[in-house]
Formats: sequence, structure tokens, C-alpha cells
Amino acid sequence: MSSSSWKIETQAIQGGYSPKAGDPRVVTICQSTTFKYDSADYVAKLFDLEVAGHFYTRLGNPTTDAFEQKIAQMEGGVAALATSSGQAATTLAIFNICQAGQHFVTAGTLYGGTYNLFASTLPKMGIQVTFVDPEASAEEILAAFRPNTRALFAETIGNPGLNVLDFAKFSAIAREKQVPLIIDSTFATPYLCRPFEHGANIIVHSTTKYIDGHGTSVGGVIVDGGNFDWDNGRYPELTEPDSSYHGLQYVKSFGPAAYIVKARVQLMRDLGVTPAPMNSFLFNQGLQTVPLRMQRHSDNALALARFLEGSPAVTWVNYPGLTTHPSYDRARKYLPKGSSGVLTFGIKGGAEAGKKFMESCRLVALVVHVGDARSCVLHPASTTHRQLTPEQQTASGVTADLIRLSVGIEHIDDIVADVEQALAVSQG
Ligand SMILES: *Cc1c(COP(=O)(O)O)cnc(C)c1O
Repeated sequence: MSSSSWKIETQAIQGGYSPKAGDPRVVTICQSTTFKYDSADYVAKLFDLEVAGHFYTRLGNPTTDAFEQKIAQMEGGVAALATSSGQAATTLAIFNICQAGQHFVTAGTLYGGTYNLFASTLPKMGIQVTFVDPEASAEEILAAFRPNTRALFAETIGNPGLNVLDFAKFSAIAREKQVPLIIDSTFATPYLCRPFEHGANIIVHSTTKYIDGHGTSVGGVIVDGGNFDWDNGRYPELTEPDSSYHGLQYVKSFGPAAYIVKARVQLMRDLGVTPAPMNSFLFNQGLQTVPLRMQRHSDNALALARFLEGSPAVTWVNYPGLTTHPSYDRARKYLPKGSSGVLTFGIKGGAEAGKKFMESCRLVALVVHVGDARSCVLHPASTTHRQLTPEQQTASGVTADLIRLSVGIEHIDDIVADVEQALAVSQG
């Protein structure tokens, strides 16, 4: 049985690395910048990408390879490229097919860092971005496209709006416009949702969150679905010779892996946003328990959301797994196993009560993070989203009374008890 037909729980444990007799059972941390060879000709072949192998850790490393192969398998893609952060993954994913003078369209409901990258830094580099309301009609979203539009971008579960993406609508728009659909699936992980099955072409993750899962390392990854026709006449950077790589033609030489090979040999070569082998080891380790942890995160978050719905100190609860949530039907369709570990709620008494609540939590820690095994809480308007204007905050789904909870995998009774006592203090 080939590893691509394994269930995701098996891929998470066994995928990406098959030791031979006498090899270490566990993927080793290959803490080496470089690799030794005997012949100059062989090294030339490595540089020409005629043979596979490692020559410099910026471009590839055995520990990082194992992580990349495992996540590619879990997502059902052809290959992956690990990066030093989620921000680096998103940056490379866009840069790979978008240059100065070009444009892309994105859902406006985004992680704050991605919003800043798209609204501020990329425009300074000459890349134009149009933000659309992901709930707008297909016609309205299609109207945002221009002749030089290169991609459509969205998050599986918007952070922190928690709107579940209408994949059917977004993938149909991308197909009609012959551009790839790039999905940030950080909150879902491949256990809860596999975006390639719903029409995505490229996936990015901040592996800092659930893939690490233990709050140890910052990282990212791009996964290539191998399912986009780059040869449609609109992407010469993938079909024409690359003068910076003595005439390499990515589609011709690498077929369905053209996009991800270009991202590695051209952009990773030039921008150098490489993960440390130690971090790749930790992400690979984290992947092993992603199925177990995501189930528990999702179950705990649903239970806490239900508790909050019944609390007099809470004005509203936003969790896609609640039947009252506007994305509930979509969550059932695209996230059938659970809706991940993040929920938001409004607290009676607004920002002031919110501050009291956060400072009164004992088990639930006040940290700028999500996706950790440990429960944590944050007030986005004063932290992650504080650099945005009030209008931008509203567009990203952030209000002043909004509290974001990343529900951990502790026992649900202890989480509920802590939240209950902190809510009581907040209203006192
Ligand atoms: C955290 C996050 C990012 C950025 O990732 P870093 O690893 O912090 O650079 C991107 N997208 C989403 C949805 C995130 O939550």
C-alpha cells in the first residue's frame, strides 16, 4: 500500500521518511549547512537540478525534506517548500507568480500580518491588491479582476473573523479567470480540511500554530497541489526560460511541480527565508499528533462555545461549529471533523470588562498566539490588529469588545471553570 493512500493519521506518523536498514528510526536533525561530494561533475549536476540531492541548506536539507514530504502527502499535494515563517510562505507564494505592475485579489478577512503585507508592503513593491468581501456575490468578486490579475487568495477559516470560506464560489471564480486559488489553511490544518479537494491550487500554512502545536518555533510552508495549468499562456515565468537559472523552463522540466520548484530554486535562492533544521524537526514531530490534537482542540472549542452561549456575561459567541453561526453549513461541508480551536466572543461591558477578563484568567494565558496546546486569550483590537485603522479592523472582522480564545487541549472542565471564574470577575 503506497503512503499516498494511507489515512491522514497514518501519514502524520509514518509519512515523508522511510528509513533503510540501520538508519535512525526517527528523522534526524541534520544540523549541517553543506554536504560533501567526490566529483565536481556531480556537484554541477546538482546545481543544474539534473540529480536530486542536497548541496546547501538554504535550498534543501534532509530534515526539512522529511517535513515537506509529509505535509505534501497529508494535503494531497505534489511537493512542498518550508519557510522560516508563515509570513515568508505567503510572501513567496505571491512573489512566485506576481511582480511589480501586476495585481491579485484577496478576501479581506485575513490574519493581521497578512493584511499588512498585502495592504502596505506589496503595494510599495508595485504589486496591486484588491480586497473583497468573501461573502460578496461571485459577480462582485469577478468585477475586482483585471487583465493583469495573477491569483485569488483567501483563508480557509478567517483569522479572527472565523468565517469559513465558500470554496465552491472561490474556486469557480479562480477557474473562470484562469488564476490559481491560494489558500492560507493555518487554522484548519490538513486534518480538518484538505483545500485541494475543494479546488485550491496552492496552500500556505503558518506552521507556528497548530502544526508545531507546542509554541516552540516560528515557521511556514507552501504546498503545491500540482493541479493548475501554468501552460495556459498567462504565466510566462513558469513556461519561458528563466534567465537567472541559465534558461531553466519550469513547466517543461518539472511538470506539475513547476510552481514549487521555481519557488525553491529561484525565490528561496534569492530571498533566503529558510527554516532551521531544528525547527523542521519540531514541525515534523508536531505533524505526528496533528490529527489527535486538532480533534481535541475542536471538541474543546465547541464545548466552550456552548458554555459561553449560555453565560449572562457574554453578548455573542462566534464559532463556526455552533448551529447559530452564519458559516455553520459551510463548516459542516468543509470542516466535517471539527471547526478548529479558535473562537471569539463579545463580553458584556466591552473593552474594559475584556481587559479584566483576560487579566483574571489563570489557566488560560494572555499571549499573542493561537494554535498552542495551552489555552490562550487575546484582545485583537489592542494587539494583533492594532496597526490597522478602525475601518480595516472592521473589514477584518475585529470589534472593540471581541475576545479571541485559542482553546487548548487541557481537560475541558478545567478550561470552562477558569473562563467561568474570570467572566464573573469581569462583571464585578
Ligand atoms: C500566524 C499566522 C500567519 C503568519 O505566520 P507567522 O508564522 O507568524 O509568520 C499567517 N496566517 C495565519 C492565518 C496566521 O494565523
